[in-house]
Amino acid sequence: MIKNTHTMNPNEFDVIIIGGGITGAGTQRDCAMRGLKTLLIERSDIATGATGRNHGLLHSGARYAVNDSESAEECIRENRILRKIAAHCIDETGGLFITLPEDDPEYQNTFVESCLRAGIEAEVIDPELARRWEPTVNQNLTGAVKVPDASIDPFRLCAANMLDAKLRGGQVRLHTTVTGFIKEGDTVRGVHTRNAQTGQVNDFYARIIVNAGGVWAQEIAAMAGAQISLYPAKGSLLIFAHRVNKHVINRCRKPSNADILVPGDTVCIVGTTSSRIPLDACDEVAVTPEEVNLLITEGSKLAPVLSSTRILRAYAGVRPLISTDKDDSGRNITRGFVILDHESRDGIKGLVSICGGKLTTYRLMAEKTTDLLCRKLGNEKKCMTAVSPLPGSEEGSYEKVAQKIWETPSTAQKAAAFRMGTRAFRMRSSDRWNDALVCKCEEVSVGEINGAIERMDASTLTDLRRRTRLGMGPCQGEFCACRAAGLLAASHGCIDREREDLNQFLQERWKGNFPIGWGDTLREAEYTQWVYKFVLGL
Ligand SMILES: Cc1cc2nc3c(=O)[nH]c(=O)nc-3n(C[C@H](O)[C@H](O)[C@H](O)COP(=O)(O)OP(=O)(O)OC[C@H]3O[C@@H](n4cnc5c(N)ncnc54)[C@H](O)[C@@H]3O)c2cc1C
Repeated sequence: MIKNTHTMNPNEFDVIIIGGGITGAGTQRDCAMRGLKTLLIERSDIATGATGRNHGLLHSGARYAVNDSESAEECIRENRILRKIAAHCIDETGGLFITLPEDDPEYQNTFVESCLRAGIEAEVIDPELARRWEPTVNQNLTGAVKVPDASIDPFRLCAANMLDAKLRGGQVRLHTTVTGFIKEGDTVRGVHTRNAQTGQVNDFYARIIVNAGGVWAQEIAAMAGAQISLYPAKGSLLIFAHRVNKHVINRCRKPSNADILVPGDTVCIVGTTSSRIPLDACDEVAVTPEEVNLLITEGSKLAPVLSSTRILRAYAGVRPLISTDKDDSGRNITRGFVILDHESRDGIKGLVSICGGKLTTYRLMAEKTTDLLCRKLGNEKKCMTAVSPLPGSEEGSYEKVAQKIWETPSTAQKAAAFRMGTRAFRMRSSDRWNDALVCKCEEVSVGEINGAIERMDASTLTDLRRRTRLGMGPCQGEFCACRAAGLLAASHGCIDREREDLNQFLQERWKGNFPIGWGDTLREAEYTQWVYKFVLGL
C-alpha cells in the first residue's frame, strides 16, 4: 500500500535519496514515475561527484567485452535504450578501436569475438577507411574495428532526470549535506541535514532511504552503522580546446592509461589514468604533472595532433568501484553494480545502498533499486523509464528538434536546442534581450541562463556552468562570468553574494587550468586575472 501522500507531513516522504549524481537522479525519477513521494538531497550541486568528472563515453560495452562480459552486455542494452530516451544528451559519434604497431595483433580477433558474444555490433574495417574517416588518427594504425560507442553529456543527463522527477512531484534539496541518520532501534527513520549556503539544519523522514553517495556511500552507510567496502579509483583526464576526432577512438588492447579519446560538444577529452586513492582523499583530487605528461604522451599515440593542440583544462574523478581485488589500478574490477539491502545484510531496516556501475548503466541501476524499494513499500507499479523519453528528448533525435527549431528566427534557441532538445522551445526567446549572448564561446543566451535559474535550481555560477556550458569554452569564463553574475544578482537581488560567487567560480576554473598552465592557456588565465583583479577589483 502506498501511503496517501496528501496526509503526509511536508518533511515526510516515501523515499529519501542521498546523492545528486546520475544514480541518485535516475532513482528519484524512477520512484517518482511509480507514484512515490521523493526527496533528493545533494550536498553540493547536481553531478559534482564522479558524474560530472568522467569521460562522457556512452559505452557500447566493447571496452569490457574481453574481461567483463556481464558489464559489456549491460552496457549495450542500456546504450540502445538511452539513445531513445535521452537523445538530446547523446552525440551519435560511433566508435573505433584501433590497433597500433606496438599492440598485440592477435587481440583484435579476441576482441571482436567477445563483442559479438555480448551482442555488440563489432565490424572490422579496412585501416585505410579508418584513416579516411579520421584524418587525425595515428596513420600507422594496423587495424580498426567499428563499434556503437557514442558521446553523452553527463550534466544534461543528470539535470534531465532530476527535472523529470520534479515535474512528477519530486523534491530536490541541493547544497544540503546529510550529516546523520535518525534511528529508532534498528530502523532508520530519517536524516539530519545542514544547508551549506544558509547554515540551516533540518530533519526529514522517510519510509526508506537510498544511499546513492557514489564513492562517499561507504561513509554515509557508516553513519547508520552499516558497512560497505569500496575501492576508490582516481582517474585523470585532459580537455582539448576543439574536437580533433569525429568518432570515439579507443586502443584495441587490454584497457590501460589514456587509451580513449572522446569528442563532445566543442571539445575532445583524453583519459584516463587509474590509481587507488584513500577514501579520505576523494574530496579534493588534483591532477599531478606526471599524469598530465602520461595523458599527453599516450593520447598523442591515438591522435598525434594532440601533442600540439591547446589543452583547456585537466580534471580528475574517483570511480566508486566495489571490490576485494588487490590490484592497484582497479582496472580489473567489474564495472557491474550491487544493491545492498542493509536490512538483510546488517540488520538495519529502512536503508538501501546502490554502489558501483557506470554512467551508461545508471538507468538499469535505478530500475533495480526502485524494484526493491517498491517490493518493500508494497507498490506494484512497473518501471517505465526504458520507454519514457526524458524531458527534451520527446522528439527522438537532435536532427528532428533542429528541423523544427530551424524555422524559428532565434539563433539563441537553435544553439540551446543542441543542449536542451525540445526544452529549448520553452525558453524565453525571440526578443533582443533574451537572445543576447552571455557566453559567446558556447553560445549561451540570456533566455537560457534565466531558464536554468528559474526552473533548474541553479543558484551559483558553477551551477549555471553545469546546466548550460557557460564558461566551458576556450576563454574559460573570462567574459561570460561577470555577465552571468549580473543575471544571478538580478534574480537574487543581492550584489555582495555575487562578488563571492564570482571569486569562487574563477578559482574553480583556475584549478583546472593550473596543471596545464603554459602557452595560450596560461596567457588566457593571466588575462582573466588582469580583468577581474585589476579592472573589476576582485
Ligand atoms: C575518471 C572517470 C571516468 C569515467 N568515465 C566513464 C565513462 O566514460 N562512461 C561511463 O559510463 N562511466 C564512466 N565513469 C563512471 C561514472 O562516472 C560513475 O559510475 C557514475 O558517475 C557514478 O555516479 P553516482 O551518482 O553513483 O556517484 P556520484 O556522481 O559521485 O554522486 C554521488 C553524490 O553524492 C553526494 N554526497 C556525498 N555525500 C553526501 C552527503 N553526506 N549528503 C548529501 N550528498 C552527498 C556527492 O556530492 C555526489 O554528488 C567514469 C568515472 C570516472 C571517475
